[in-house]
Amino acid sequence: MTTPMHPTHRFLILDDDPLVGQTMQFIAEDLGLETRLTNSPADFFEALEFWAPTHIAVDLIMPDMDGVQVMKQLADNGCKARLIITSGVGARVLDAAGRSAIERGLDIVGVLSKPFTAGELRRLLVGSTAPAPAGSSPATTAAAAPGLDIDLADIRQGLSRREFRVVYQPKIACESGLLSGFEALVRWVHPDYGPIWPASFIQLAEEHGLIDALTEQVLDLALEWFAPLCSEATRHPVAALSAAAGIDLSLSVNISAKTLNDLDLIDRLVERCTRLQLAPARLIFELTETSAMDNPMASLDLLTRLRMKGFHLSIDDFGTGFSSLLQLVRLPFSEIKVDKSFVMTAMHSEESRTVVKSIVDLGRSLGLRTVAEGVETAEVLGFLGNIGCHLAQGFHIARPMTGEATLRWMGERYGVT
Ligand code: C2E
Ligand code: CA
Ligand code: CA
Repeated sequence: MTTPMHPTHRFLILDDDPLVGQTMQFIAEDLGLETRLTNSPADFFEALEFWAPTHIAVDLIMPDMDGVQVMKQLADNGCKARLIITSGVGARVLDAAGRSAIERGLDIVGVLSKPFTAGELRRLLVGSTAPAPAGSSPATTAAAAPGLDIDLADIRQGLSRREFRVVYQPKIACESGLLSGFEALVRWVHPDYGPIWPASFIQLAEEHGLIDALTEQVLDLALEWFAPLCSEATRHPVAALSAAAGIDLSLSVNISAKTLNDLDLIDRLVERCTRLQLAPARLIFELTETSAMDNPMASLDLLTRLRMKGFHLSIDDFGTGFSSLLQLVRLPFSEIKVDKSFVMTAMHSEESRTVVKSIVDLGRSLGLRTVAEGVETAEVLGFLGNIGCHLAQGFHIARPMTGEATLRWMGERYGVT
């Protein structure tokens, strides 16, 4: 017997095969979701707007309709519902569609290759409707209010009123499960619009020279939260637990390629660390693969100087860029982060598993630490352990949480207070 889920979950299904559609409806209703089924894209988009489903399932291949177009339209509409893609096409095409949905910023919970079992659908629905723990942030790709139109003046105002907050997502060692550190992720708590996710403002801030100011505010908040966990006098018991196994907790901060032009950055970083008595080796700067390649020479200078001061560098979203391996090897990275689009689909796609394993092997052979992000299930975590990936980050371990909630999570997970 299944436990009924929250009654406000609404599941909208677009499928032209009535048998499949009705079966999905039965399964979802059995789980306590309200459902609607349609075989018409026009009805589907109307229901999307007026019924505001929390979950949708889209069949990619239907007569008179292009599934890729539907996904594009979903993305253009800023759709925040959790998306399940279904189809009878081959697994490769379905995987590619899944990755493209992720790239478009859609909140995809999984792909189901027809014929799928009731269990497979149930697992996706149950997994994606579980309530998030207190203090954690909701699905990552969601924008704030629908149709939210952020402009530059808003960001300037947000910065001057210091409305930006930082949430933390834990990273653990795949093998031992010990805590290895956190990634700091920015959130904007707007007085009128509520929480706004980075996808809605980072690019704009980058394009208009506001990203350095934003990074400064993120660093202010994150370092102030993080430093006491490590400092000898106030060290957190979970930090001590990791230290006993040779792991010094680290804090990862995302930096934009634009920031690489900021020549004073290093001095200010060193000054901050000295003031907080934090060893630079505890800080990891994450740069996306593509951004590091925009200007390889400037990157090389600044990144080398950062490394010389003891800071660590991570290549983020690895596997999605188009850089040459040679350039990558030349830059002084210490960590490689496998992009979540491959990690999230690892259990459904042989191709994704191959990509994840190749990147992990590459990282290891270059002497880099390997991190997989987007770990959403125990199964994926097990797979990562088997292929020798060092660290894991993802919803299966914890969602990004406020500083306070992170401390609670540490206490609960590792049984200390
Ligand atoms: P990212 O650096 O790749 O960060 C990881 C994103 O994946 C985060 O989204 C995180 O919430 C999400 N995530 C983590 N685990 C899972 C999982 O298991 N499943 C799924 N589906 N998603 C997961 P978030 O917080 O929305 O951040 C989006 C992007 O915004 C970040 O991607 C990063 O590029 C950028 N960003 C965030 N904070 C900052 C910042 O302070 N400065 C700069 N320059 N960029 C930032
Ligand atoms: Ca990152
Ligand atoms: Ca990433």
